[in-house]
Amino acid sequence: MSVINKYQRTYKEEKEKSSDQLGKRPEWLKIKLPMGDNYTDVRNLMRRQKLHTVCEEAKCPNIAECWNARTATFMILGDTCTRSCGFCNIKVGLPSELDTNEPGRVADSVKELNLRHVVITSVNRDELHDGGASIFSECVRLIKEEMPDTTVEILIPDFRGVEEAFEIIMKKPPDILNHNLETVPRLYKVVRPQAKYERSLNLIKWFKEKGLKTKSGIMVGIGEQQEEVLNLMDDLVDHGCDILTIGQYLQPTKNHLPVDRFVPLEEFKVYKELGLEKGFKIVESSPLVRSSYHADKHARAIF
Ligand code: SF4
Repeated sequence: MSVINKYQRTYKEEKEKSSDQLGKRPEWLKIKLPMGDNYTDVRNLMRRQKLHTVCEEAKCPNIAECWNARTATFMILGDTCTRSCGFCNIKVGLPSELDTNEPGRVADSVKELNLRHVVITSVNRDELHDGGASIFSECVRLIKEEMPDTTVEILIPDFRGVEEAFEIIMKKPPDILNHNLETVPRLYKVVRPQAKYERSLNLIKWFKEKGLKTKSGIMVGIGEQQEEVLNLMDDLVDHGCDILTIGQYLQPTKNHLPVDRFVPLEEFKVYKELGLEKGFKIVESSPLVRSSYHADKHARAIF
């Protein structure tokens, strides 16, 4: 049986099965309670430096594992986002002023944690002309200055497609440029109402053409069809994406989009096989994968 046939059978069977079981989380989605010395150290550091992490703000299920390994994903430009995506738990509103000292505190924290690889993301700041690109750029500059051997990955918003913002990022290029598609184009209206699928693809292509390693991520189980995921993979490969992450969507509160189904483990494995066949260099695909999950491992593998 070919991989695709096997996949289609799995999808059909599991779609029927999971609709009966929805409401009860499968065993593989059980989350460890965050605790431990390293966890406490990382939390105290973030409080002391007045920094936000997407680990906490997005209620990431991997926080126990990542923080105990002394890794975290910094979330810059404040804790308030100008967009209202249907899946995301970050606070929505009009952000306060720009904290220009934030890059210095991020760089100091990277040094204190002695990170080999760091991921920096942000809320959307659509009210700023450059969308906050200059703050990303300053973070990269200062980290490279303090920790020249540390690789830097930035997980950026789409900056409304403004090329001027892209150019600012390229003044101090990161090692990996990450931008999430999040879901298939049919679902953008409900999942990412202020984003555009083509705009995100073009962003990835733009940075790839400048010579950066590129990465993107999606959630599954939010209403997409199997064939749509395969088409999305083709689009990403055609636009020069090197690394793909795929994880299960989990509803952060009852005000967010519901889970459509719990995708079975076997299906995640098939996505990985198909993704590699299609041309991605790395595919990380399993239920608890998030965009920055095992990012350090990806960076080691790709350079
Ligand atoms: S997967 Fe990413 S966001 Fe989640 S805890 Fe780990 S570093 Fe933080």
